[in-house]
Amino acid sequence: MKTLKIAIQKSGRLNEKSVELLKNCGLNFENYKSSLISPVSNFPLEILFLRDDDIPEYVQDGIADLGIVGENVIQETEVEVSYLQKLGFGKCSLKIAVPNNNSITALEQLNGKAIATTYPVILGKYLAEKNITSDIRTISGSVEISPGLGLSDAICDLVSTGGTLKSNGLVPFADVMSSEAVLIGQKGSENDDLVQELIQRIQSVLRAKE
Ligand code: ATP
Ligand code: ZN
Repeated sequence: MKTLKIAIQKSGRLNEKSVELLKNCGLNFENYKSSLISPVSNFPLEILFLRDDDIPEYVQDGIADLGIVGENVIQETEVEVSYLQKLGFGKCSLKIAVPNNNSITALEQLNGKAIATTYPVILGKYLAEKNITSDIRTISGSVEISPGLGLSDAICDLVSTGGTLKSNGLVPFADVMSSEAVLIGQKGSENDDLVQELIQRIQSVLRAKE
């Protein structure tokens, strides 16, 4: 019999809620921090624990049938996958923020300015839509310290409470996208009976939470 694979984040902001959701679906598995794969004992499913950045491509390429990942990561990696279900956790927004002592008040003022981000694809599309040409500086982390170091005039980063921005002297300036964790599948996977069974279970867990 066929065994499905679902990829979830190994550690980080989405790990705990992803594990909890699958457990609430009645799935029985060990949540070893050390292993990459956990078999589910009461459903034909294996759980793959991965870096979130790798999940969209693994699902697109069929290495995993399903994945749980933030919409922001899917948009950034520009993969072709099916959106199966919004999951209601991991909510955040991708925002442009500027130093709180600056004079930027309109989006046009970002023309020619340097914006540091780990989301160059999403930011690039957003700016292109608004006809703004900025110098997008792609960095791999600690984006919020870059204006203070003189490396950029603005940043584009994920925000949930805004606490990190505030403590770095930044104020949110524009909303680029809002995001939450979603269940994705390989294109066409929605026609699979096992996938449907899993979606049904997830939907009843989500309904019970309402
Ligand atoms: P990994 O080690 O798997 O690459 P990571 O460091 O890239 O992890 P996390 O910081 O754990 O990622 O965030 C995972 C996801 O959680 C984000 O892609 C986003 O969808 C969501 N998220 C929710 N709130 C926030 C927030 N305040 N900051 C960053 N991500 C958030
Ligand atoms: Zn990541």
